[in-house]
Amino acid sequence: MRYEAPDSLDSAVALLAGARGDARVLAGGTDLLVQLRSDILDPELIVDIKKIAATRTVTEEGGGWRIGAAVTGAELKEHERLKKAWPGVVEAANLIGSTQVQGRATLGGNLCNGSPAADSVPALIAAGATARIAGPKGQRDLPVEDVMLGPRKLALTKGELIVSFGLPPRPKGSSDAYLRFIPRTEMDIAVVGAGVSLTIDGGGAVTAARVSLGAVAEKVLLVAEAAQAIIGSRLDAPAQARLEAAARAACRPIDDKRGTKEYRIDVAAVLTRRAALIALDRAKGNR
Ligand SMILES: Cc1cc2nc3c(=O)[nH]c(=O)nc-3n(C[C@H](O)[C@H](O)[C@H](O)COP(=O)(O)OP(=O)(O)OC[C@H]3O[C@@H](n4cnc5c(N)ncnc54)[C@H](O)[C@@H]3O)c2cc1C
Repeated sequence: MRYEAPDSLDSAVALLAGARGDARVLAGGTDLLVQLRSDILDPELIVDIKKIAATRTVTEEGGGWRIGAAVTGAELKEHERLKKAWPGVVEAANLIGSTQVQGRATLGGNLCNGSPAADSVPALIAAGATARIAGPKGQRDLPVEDVMLGPRKLALTKGELIVSFGLPPRPKGSSDAYLRFIPRTEMDIAVVGAGVSLTIDGGGAVTAARVSLGAVAEKVLLVAEAAQAIIGSRLDAPAQARLEAAARAACRPIDDKRGTKEYRIDVAAVLTRRAALIALDRAKGNR
C-alpha cells in the first residue's frame, strides 16, 4: 500500500485518477483506519488530503461560509462566528464519537464514508450545503443530498474528492438544529437523526425551511414535504402535527438491533418536531 500526502489539489486528483487499483482519500482516518485494520478494505493507494490548504480552512464567502472538507469537528466548535450562524451544523459534527474522535473526524469523511446514519449529513442537507468536488475534469458543486446514493455508494467518480462545503448566506431570523437518538448516551450510531433549518419573519411565521432525516432510509433524506408542512405557520400545534406526519411518511427504515421500523418512524416524528422547535427558538434570537 502506497501513502501520499500532496500539498496541492491538482496533485491529489492526479494521484487518485492515476491509481491502478483501489485508491482512498484519507482525512481524519476514524472510519478508514478502522476499515483497513479490519481487512474490509485493502487499497493500493492512500491520499492524505490534510496538507491541502483548501480542505483545512473555514472562511466567510459571499455572505455564507466555506468549510474545508478536512476541518475537524473540534475545530468547528472553536469557530464562534460559524457556531452562531450554523449551530445545528456545528452541534452535529460534535456529536460524532468522543472528544478524541472529534479531534480527527471531518465533515468530508462523515459524508464520504457513505453511512445513512452519519450525524453531520442531515445537518448539512438541512442547511442547504453544497459539496465542492475536484476531479480530473475540474471542479463542480453538488447539493450534499445528491452526493450519497446509498450505503457506501457516492456520486463521486474516479479521481474525484470533496474539497469543501459551501453554506449559504443566512437571512435575519434564521437558525438550525440537529438531534439524534442513540441507545447509549454517547459513542453509538444514530437510530434516527433529524436536522431542521428555518427562517422566520418579524411576526414569527416560518418563511423558509429545510428538513432532513438520517438512518431512516438507504441514504440521508431531504424531506421537502416536512418543510412545506411548516412554511407559513408559527409552528403551532397543528403545524407540529403536520410536520410529524410528513416525517413519518418519508421514513422507509430497516429493522435492526437498534430499533424496529415502527420504533424508528415514531422516533423520527418526535425528533423532527423537537429539532424544529429548537431551530425556531434560536431563530427568534437572531431577528
Ligand atoms: C469510536 C468511534 C465513534 C464514532 N462515532 C460516530 C458518531 O457518533 N456519528 C457518526 O456519524 N460517525 C461516527 N463515527 C464514524 C467516523 O468518526 C465519522 O464518520 C467521521 O466523520 C469520519 O471522518 P474522517 O475524517 O475520520 O474520515 P476518514 O476515515 O478519513 O474517511 C472516511 C471515508 O471517506 C473518504 N473520504 C474522506 N474524506 C474525503 C474527501 N474529502 N473526499 C472524498 N472522500 C473522502 C475516505 O476515503 C473513507 O472512505 C465513529 C467512529 C469511531 C471510530
